[in-house]
Amino acid sequence: MRPDILNPLFTESTALKGVGHVLARPLERLGLTRAVDLAFHLPVSWIERQRVHRLADAETGRMVGVVLTAQDYRASGSARAPFRIRAVDAAGDVVSIVYFGKNSGWPRKLFPLGEPRFVSGRLDRFGDELQIVHPDHVVPPEEAAGIADREPVYGLSEGITNGRMRELVVQALARAPQLPEWIEPGLRARKQWPAWHEALAAAHHDPAAQAARTRLAYDEIFASQLALMLLRASTRRRRGVPVAGDRRLRDKLALPFSPTGAQRRAFAEIEGDMAQPVPMLRLLQGDVGSGKTLVALMALLNAVEASGQAAFLAPTEILARQHFASLQSMLAGLPVNVALLTGRDKGKARESTLMGLADGSIHILVGTHAIFQEAVSYRNLVLTVIDEQHRFGVSQRLMLTAKAERTPHLLVMTATPIPRTLTLTQYGDMDVSRLDEMPPGRQQIDTRVISDARIDEVVAAVGRHVDAGRQAYWVCPLVEQSEDGDEAAAEVRAAGLRARFGADKVGVVHGRMPGAEKDAVMEAFASGRLSLLVATTVIEVGVDVPNATLMVIEAAERFGLAQLHQLRGRVGRGDQRSFCMLLHGQTLSETARARLSLMRETGDGFRIAEEDLRLRGAGELLGTRQSGEQRFRLATPEQIQALLPAAHDDARLLMDRDGGLDSERGQAARTCLYLFERDAAIALLSSG
Ligand code: ADP
Ligand code: MG
Repeated sequence: MRPDILNPLFTESTALKGVGHVLARPLERLGLTRAVDLAFHLPVSWIERQRVHRLADAETGRMVGVVLTAQDYRASGSARAPFRIRAVDAAGDVVSIVYFGKNSGWPRKLFPLGEPRFVSGRLDRFGDELQIVHPDHVVPPEEAAGIADREPVYGLSEGITNGRMRELVVQALARAPQLPEWIEPGLRARKQWPAWHEALAAAHHDPAAQAARTRLAYDEIFASQLALMLLRASTRRRRGVPVAGDRRLRDKLALPFSPTGAQRRAFAEIEGDMAQPVPMLRLLQGDVGSGKTLVALMALLNAVEASGQAAFLAPTEILARQHFASLQSMLAGLPVNVALLTGRDKGKARESTLMGLADGSIHILVGTHAIFQEAVSYRNLVLTVIDEQHRFGVSQRLMLTAKAERTPHLLVMTATPIPRTLTLTQYGDMDVSRLDEMPPGRQQIDTRVISDARIDEVVAAVGRHVDAGRQAYWVCPLVEQSEDGDEAAAEVRAAGLRARFGADKVGVVHGRMPGAEKDAVMEAFASGRLSLLVATTVIEVGVDVPNATLMVIEAAERFGLAQLHQLRGRVGRGDQRSFCMLLHGQTLSETARARLSLMRETGDGFRIAEEDLRLRGAGELLGTRQSGEQRFRLATPEQIQALLPAAHDDARLLMDRDGGLDSERGQAARTCLYLFERDAAIALLSSG
């Protein structure tokens, strides 16, 4: 239950004074549906008003405040033309006050002829005439003192003015309570951060209040770190199953290569975790092609050797099938029973798989993430491996740990090479193993950046490539704001390429296709019957066709670098030289150009991630767009980077001292979790 002290902040915006249905709409568009949202809607900039007695003392182009007296009105004949008021200052200098598009009744009322008014607005020079267009304040001089010299400027939407927004924010701030302190006192003293309430007010009133803004951002990061740690603690409080295989299966594995040092290290860490009676929570981070599957296989076999069952889950149907096929071939001849279960398996086959899981005759289940949502019971599930974590968020992890009475060990694998600090924002609850060494013999993919004006040459190059018996991918642009735009673009491109290369040589896959159809196309491509695969980003993860050595990516500037990197990782999988052509639109920003040339220069995923962070800021890399959770609303990506280590340590320290959040500070921290709506984690505390 949310602490009562926060309730005033969580009232609906519509309960605020002056919010009727007219304002409710724009507030909703801005996501400001509750007082707390308004309180956290920090100014984006500031107006500084210069008060002068005479216009001659004011700078043009700036906000001024000056007492003026209206001399006459200049309404013109046409309704479209602006309404002008000729006014003078104390020295008799003239300025035009201009109103567009309004009927003149209202300005006439504001400016009665011959009566002085304090006027505030931007002073501009138009030819040799001074003008103030739509002043933001017009009041009798005795009320001028009530107008601040400095005003916050808020992010707005159509239908709400800055003045109204400010009034609402003031009301919201009035509802903000004094809250107990959750930041470690030493840290707060060192940083000279104000208390929460004071910080919130200052962030809205004082453009110089850096410390206040930083503190608010810190609070949010702290809440997210603490939530992750609670999640971790609750998993670790659960009973796990110590798993120690005897190597009888692993020793019989006939591998055509020996594991890299990084693979060995990762596996030793996993083996160490699995031997513990607390459940493993480990992230295996490794670039595309770094060999995560082998590490997963070792963990799976470790489980099976110890008479346990293991589940290996992939984000898509295609990948699940591919993992299933490769496990089957690697395990050929070994007494290990692997089964596949996806949302598409129905009827008898499904029943028999479910039975095999329940009676323990199936040792390893390969499936899609969706299996979590379903009632699958195992005889003795001791390990879950999840491939390609970036589609698998914190709330799903929660569900996983909540399910079993004895919590299985969890290994999550991701190919998104995000920088270390950012790993903490998403996986702060997990231990991390990194595959930072590629299997030997990996070659650079020859990457070119090409304007889409030269698409004919690109098609010709694809033609030569295909004629030489090789295969290629053609990735179509992301179409934003359109659910099925990707699909349409892919279909259109495929039609064009079919006309050129023959209908039986070109396949197309996209997210909207029925799974069976998609698999059939993928299968035809993998087996070499198709030369060219036109695709949306569904091929992004995992797909492995060694003879496909050319990739064309249209509108590459619209992709994130991490995503381009993953896409490109689909080629260069065999021993043949591989190519990637990044097509871009004809107007390219400096940053976009720099990002694409980075792709040309390096194949190192971690470097790409670090540089992309530098070029774009952390926003895109935080993966918020993909997971739709862990949204930060106060902390900017830069602040996250700067403050995260301290927030992580602070949260850790608190958890070490007071894991139940029972102390005074622990209680305060609970309030912080509720304030930032990271309170799902609190339920874990009480449920143990
Ligand atoms: P990813 O980390 O992208 O999942 P995979 O596990 O699919 O990478 O491995 C990529 C390729 O590298 C596979 O063809 C795999 O057989 C091969 N591979 C994995 N480990 C090694 C190794 N130690 N030496 C040589 N090749 C390896
Ligand atoms: Mg993989």
